[in-house]
Parts: sequence; C-alpha cells; structure tokens
Amino acid sequence: MAALHSSLAPFCLKKLILIPYPKPRRIYRFQAMSSSSGPGPAALVHKVPGLDPDEMERVADQTFQRYTSSSVKRNGHGVAIVWFRNDLRVLDNEALYKAWLSSQEVLPVYCVDPRLFGSTYYFGFPKTGALRAQFLIESLADLKKNLTKRGLNLLIQHGKPEEILPSLAKTYGVHTVYAQKETCSEELSVERLVSKGLRRVVLPSSSEQSTRQSATNNPKLQLIWGTTMYHIDDLPFETSSLPDVYTQFRKSIEAKCSVRGCIRIPASLGPTPSIGDWGCVPSLDQFGLQYQNVSLGMKFVGGENAALGRINEYFWNKDLLSIYKKTRNGMLGPDYSTKFSPWLASGSLSPRLVHEEVKRYEKERQANDSTYWVLFELIWRDYFRFLSAKYGNSLFHSGGPRKLDYRWSQEQTLFESWRDGRTGYPLIDANMKELSTTGFMSNRGRQIVCSFLVRDMGIDWRMGAEWFETCLLDYDPCSNYGNWTYGAGVGNDPREDRYFSIPKQAQNYDPEGEYVAYWLPQLQSLPKDRRHFPGMGYIKQVVPLKFGNAGKYQNHDKAFTARGTNFGGRRTKGTRG
Ligand code: FAD
Repeated sequence: MAALHSSLAPFCLKKLILIPYPKPRRIYRFQAMSSSSGPGPAALVHKVPGLDPDEMERVADQTFQRYTSSSVKRNGHGVAIVWFRNDLRVLDNEALYKAWLSSQEVLPVYCVDPRLFGSTYYFGFPKTGALRAQFLIESLADLKKNLTKRGLNLLIQHGKPEEILPSLAKTYGVHTVYAQKETCSEELSVERLVSKGLRRVVLPSSSEQSTRQSATNNPKLQLIWGTTMYHIDDLPFETSSLPDVYTQFRKSIEAKCSVRGCIRIPASLGPTPSIGDWGCVPSLDQFGLQYQNVSLGMKFVGGENAALGRINEYFWNKDLLSIYKKTRNGMLGPDYSTKFSPWLASGSLSPRLVHEEVKRYEKERQANDSTYWVLFELIWRDYFRFLSAKYGNSLFHSGGPRKLDYRWSQEQTLFESWRDGRTGYPLIDANMKELSTTGFMSNRGRQIVCSFLVRDMGIDWRMGAEWFETCLLDYDPCSNYGNWTYGAGVGNDPREDRYFSIPKQAQNYDPEGEYVAYWLPQLQSLPKDRRHFPGMGYIKQVVPLKFGNAGKYQNHDKAFTARGTNFGGRRTKGTRG
C-alpha cells in the first residue's frame, strides 16, 4: 500500500490537467444528407457533443441539480468500496449510492486491468483499440472530477481487480465492495475471483461487527444490476425463459413492467478515507497504445458531462428527438441519430436517465412516434443484455445460440480487404474507413458491412465481430455479439436472417453518393449516380455480390435462408469455438 502514499500526487495532478482533449484544427458542420452540394475537400471533424467546455459544464451542473435530493439519509457504518467497471458515472449509479448509504466513508476505485489491453479471443486483434482507450481515459478523468466535486475522489490502480480490491479492503477495513453486475464470461470470471479474494481477507472484528457477523468477518462483494433501462428483477419472466423473438419480449415488458425512476443523490457523497496518492488517470502509452488523431468524421468526447451535453444538444437545443424515427437510418454526421451508444457502453450514461429525459421532453415539448422510437431502440439494447444471460458463451461461438453448424471461410486476404476498406464496393469501404478513423459506424452501416462479410464473402462472422470489438467506441459484448449472431443467421431468432443488397441500400440510404464521397475523396469528382459503382476508376471488386450487381439499383434485399448453404463453400481453418 506504500504506493498510495507516495509523493507523486502533484505530478499526477499536473498530468491530469494535461489529459489531451484534442481539438480539431477546424470544425465544420456536415452537409445535410439531402443537400445537393458535395462535401468539400477540407477535413471535416465534428466534435460530439458540439458544445464548448463551459456549456457542457453548465448543462452537467443543471442535470446534477435535477437529480440531487436533500431528503436522502445515510445510516451506514465503516468503509465501503465502490468498484467502478462499465458504470463510469455519478448519476443514477446504484452501486455508488448503496456504497454511500451503507457506510460512513466511501472509497471509489477503478482498476486498470491489463486483460482489457490483451488480444481478442479467437483472432488475436487488439482487445481495445487506441480510440476506445482514449475515450476511456477521458471518461475516467471526468469521473474523477465529478466525484471530487461531491466530496469523493477516484483511486486509480493498475492491476487485476482480484488482487487490488482485497488488498484495499484489508488496509481500509472495508465491509463491502459494491459493483455493477455483468453478464458475460470474462467479466463473470473476474467477479468470482474478486469474491474469492475478499473471502480470504479477515477483518479485525469490532464489537459491533462481531455481534452482527459472528464467526466470519470478511468483506463482501455486493453486485448490483445497473446496465439496462428495465431492471432485471422487474421482468415478467426468468431470463432462462426470455422470448426468442424481440417483438414478443418488447410487448410483454411494455405491458407488464415500468422503468424505475433514477436515483436521487445527496449533494455530498463524502467523506473518503484519507489517502495520500489517488493515482493518475492513465495515459495511452501505459496501455502500450499510441495516440490516434481523428482526422475526419466524428470525434466523441468521453465522460458523463459529455453524455449529458449530448442529451441536451440532441433533445433540447436541436429538437432532433422529435424527428428521430425519420432520420435514424442515416449514415453521415452527428444529427441523424442520438449517438448515445459510446456513453451507454462505458456507463457514463444511464439508460434510465435517457428514459426520464425522453418523458420530460414529451411533457414539455411533444410526444410522437420518434420520441417513443428512441425507447424502442433502448429496449433492443436491454434485450441483447438479457439474451447474454440466457445464452451464455454460445453468443461467442461459431454456431451462435442456435448452435448451427456452418463452414465459414477465414481467408485472410479477403478479410483484410473488408477490414481496411478495400473491397471495391464504396459503401462497404466508406463504412469500414469510418470505423477505423473514428471508432463509430451507423447502425445501417453495421448491418450492411456485416451482411457483406458473412453473405457475400462467406467469412467467419467472428472475425468481423472481433474487429468491431477492437475498434468500436461503444463496444459492448452483448450488443456486439448479439447483433453479429443475428446478422450471421446464427442468432436466437431464426426469422432474423436478412441479406442486405448493396445496390438497394445505396439507393435508399445514400442516393447522392454523399456518404461514400465523404469517406472516399477519389469519388468526389464522379457524377453522383456513379459513385456507388464507379467501375474501372476504383478498386477492383474482390468478390461478386451473392445476388449480382448488374442492375444499378435492383431490389435484392431479401430474407436469406442460410441453413444448408456453406457461404461460398470454403472450409474453415479450424476454430476454437
Ligand atoms: P440510436 O439509433 O440513436 O439508438 C439509441 C440507442 O439504442 C443506441 O445508443 C443503443 O444503445 C440502442 N440501440 C439501437 N440499435 C440497437 C441495436 N441494434 N442493438 C442494441 N442496441 C441498439 N451497439 C452497441 O452499443 N455496441 C456494440 O458493440 C454494437 N455492435 C453492433 C454490431 C452490429 C453488427 C450491429 C448491426 C449493430 C451493433 N450495435 C451495437 C447496435 C447499433 O448499431 C448501435 O447501438 C447504434 O448504431 C449506436 O448509434 P446511436 O447511439 O446513434 O443509436
């Protein structure tokens, strides 16, 4: 524990202030999707949210005030730890709140777990790419700041939680470690190890504790549900009998459950135990990663204040919530959809807070099918989280929850052409370039590139899913692997098995070729009707489309019965699934 009292604190403080929030050289607005003028050659970077830091601070302060109450009373004893995981927020954080309620002092801890910076399971890609790591760093800096404002701080330690937490529990006589419950195997395994480590810690028994806890006086791990909009305890069924069809799930919970209100917190959450050195917000080089500049597209700002700023911008400043249902299938710029996913995935934003803000908007401005549709999409997110509890590791296996036996190709050259945006299909290439440049891709784009990889190339869907795992700012195992298994036709719902035709998708969602020309500047000089199929002037197509691309915009989207096909007939190299 000596490290906690080292004299590095001022250095860390300095470092904290210097955490880079890279400012783009120039900030431009995107061209509207319907605009006839093509994107200019200048670099277009759009910060999300597009608020300046002062405005973001003001919005966050106002939101914090709305969710603060003076009537909450604390009745706990001793010290409790709140172990932050994918819940990097102060507002509506039940683990933090329960730690406060049950104690006289709260010790907030984040463990920089080296396993997060290892390799993906099957194909050995970096488990966390530089852009998500940068987003995490910004989220931690913001969390530390918000906790400090409320009388706490954030102890940042490098190492495995199962080693760090028992050691802290022993040093500070902690009775309980509170943390958000996870559902996937890697996270569950860490939970088990932490619990085991805590059981080995024997605390000196105070007279009060020894009468209450008799023989065993170990710190406990208390896991709290907190990732979804609907609480798992409120579902009208056990997760083991979760409906396999989304619509059945949604209708059932909409009829039988309600979303719990957000927790109201006191103005001060302090005090903390006395600690000399709270540890530094890590830097990218400590993760073995290099800074990656976002030179085009959207630059997301990490942290709770940015998340609250984005709600304010999307709902209240721009009124975009009222037209979400019409715009949500767009691909270009920050305005077509909420862009909440990176903050939801890191837990800087609570889905229940989004729900409450939608309800407030409906009351104060208007309620329509668009305001409802954001909640509809958040129910998809809930659904994939609950499915992961039902189906466990099969979500990550080649045959998916349905345990289908397909022969996928793992041909490296084809995969790399997809990964690097060199397939010869501008719609695929533009989306893949957006992903690697910004860490984001629209929902429409994700469905198209997934269908292309799996259906047209016949490549193992897990290669695509793991590449998304590396790159996505909003990577979440449940939503990522859940959507990939759906897209690959191995998901739990046999009806979700669709082929996305590139000509049709191009016609519907990028008719002027603005999106592809934005990401592939060599197409800007072409007539708009040639941008999606530029012919000789562009890269040669690496595979033909499953249903042909002869007609310019043929309607080829179709339900695709994958069962019984071998997706191009290539055999696998052998898998560990
Ligand atoms: P909006 O359209 O504004 O939707 C609001 C919120 O609803 C999103 O922030 C998200 O939390 C939720 N949502 C919307 N669609 C879905 C969906 N299909 N599945 C689950 N939640 C949804 N989303 C992730 O958060 N993490 C992932 O790792 C992820 N991987 C995906 C992989 C594939 C192959 C596909 C097809 C989709 C994936 N999605 C994932 C879902 C979806 O694409 C993103 O949530 C969405 O594009 C994020 O943008 P947004 O916040 O502007 O969404």
